[in-house]
Amino acid sequence: MIKLKANYIITMNEKNEIIENGEVIFDKKIIKIGKNLEKNIKTIDLGENSVLMPGLINTHTHLEFSANQTTLIYGDFITWLNSVIAKRENLLADCKNNCYQNAITQMKKSGIVAFGEISSTGLDLDHLKNSDLKVIYFNEIIGSNPAAVDALYQDFLNRLKESEEYKSEKFIPSISIHSPYSVHPIVIKKVLDIAKQKNMVVSAHFMESKAEREWLDNNKGDFKIFFKQNLNQETAVTSAVEFLKQFEDVKTHFIHAVWANEEELQYISSINASIAHCPVSNRLLNTGLLNIERVKNLQIPYSVATDGLSSNYSLNLFKEIRSALLMHTGLHPKYLAKDLIKSVTKNAGEILNLNNGSIEVGKFADLISFKLPQCSNIEDLYLQIILHINEIEKMWINGEKIEI
Ligand SMILES: [Zn+2]
Repeated sequence: MIKLKANYIITMNEKNEIIENGEVIFDKKIIKIGKNLEKNIKTIDLGENSVLMPGLINTHTHLEFSANQTTLIYGDFITWLNSVIAKRENLLADCKNNCYQNAITQMKKSGIVAFGEISSTGLDLDHLKNSDLKVIYFNEIIGSNPAAVDALYQDFLNRLKESEEYKSEKFIPSISIHSPYSVHPIVIKKVLDIAKQKNMVVSAHFMESKAEREWLDNNKGDFKIFFKQNLNQETAVTSAVEFLKQFEDVKTHFIHAVWANEEELQYISSINASIAHCPVSNRLLNTGLLNIERVKNLQIPYSVATDGLSSNYSLNLFKEIRSALLMHTGLHPKYLAKDLIKSVTKNAGEILNLNNGSIEVGKFADLISFKLPQCSNIEDLYLQIILHINEIEKMWINGEKIEI
């Protein structure tokens, strides 16, 4: 059992309490929170201007593409996608041991205790199965062409099975549907049946770009040429609404949703699904900015996530929420800052079923601490953290100290 003492304890509990000069007692899970708690427990004082808060959770990454720095082409979604297709094999081959380790270290330093990894090949499994961070390992299915679907489905099943051999408290195998335009509805049904049977959280890209909107609505737009050239396909395999309806009974995390319309957002809300907001990725591919106020008003839980280094310059989640803070110019910075911290802690923990993301009795002790440069008003704390913190000092996962 350990007791931590900090100047500011950000609980992210129901009342969003911040405890000044507070203490937290925990072993694997959090046991007690308050002030002047039991004296006879080993106590670590985190020091002047210290902040103790729930560890951050990055719900959407693609670590297989971590070798990319300047290779892929930004500025337009389809141009970027073509560059991914052209460079994919090289980037996958270039991501060897250090590449994964560097990506994980970067996330760890920025306070990330858990992340959702989209695995399209299984090449990342060896590097992630024993990670000291928690991993929700989304085995991804892709394939819209009926002729190729059986082989792709079999490959998916093999990857899923292999990942399940390493299932543990910190490594949770799961399932990802690539997108409505790239997976045949029959395969989606089969894969979602597995997810329901195994009670898995599912992830799916949805309405990332205007090209996707136009293709699914009218079989037109930039995807028309793309599908004709690459897959000799003239029409979309599904409509957006038909796609969404398949997720009625499964806990789903939709990624991006920038181009989702009102009807689709309402449906996402009605099935208690969530959304990942990846503002830097969306900006670099010039796909627009999610209306997070509308999402919040519809009571859709949202997280902010970095996406992969295939469409970002960093996996640092503090930098990501700082970007979000600066991009959403219509929202008040103080209130937005609080929502953004919540999105990468409490919301993200609930979205991925992790029983963490807040400092409350019974939650896993997944905690981070750091020091602010000076003291801060309580009401400015969330904003000051987002502005000034890039790296953390200490981390605990399931109550165990993690070397950073
Ligand atoms: Zn993605």
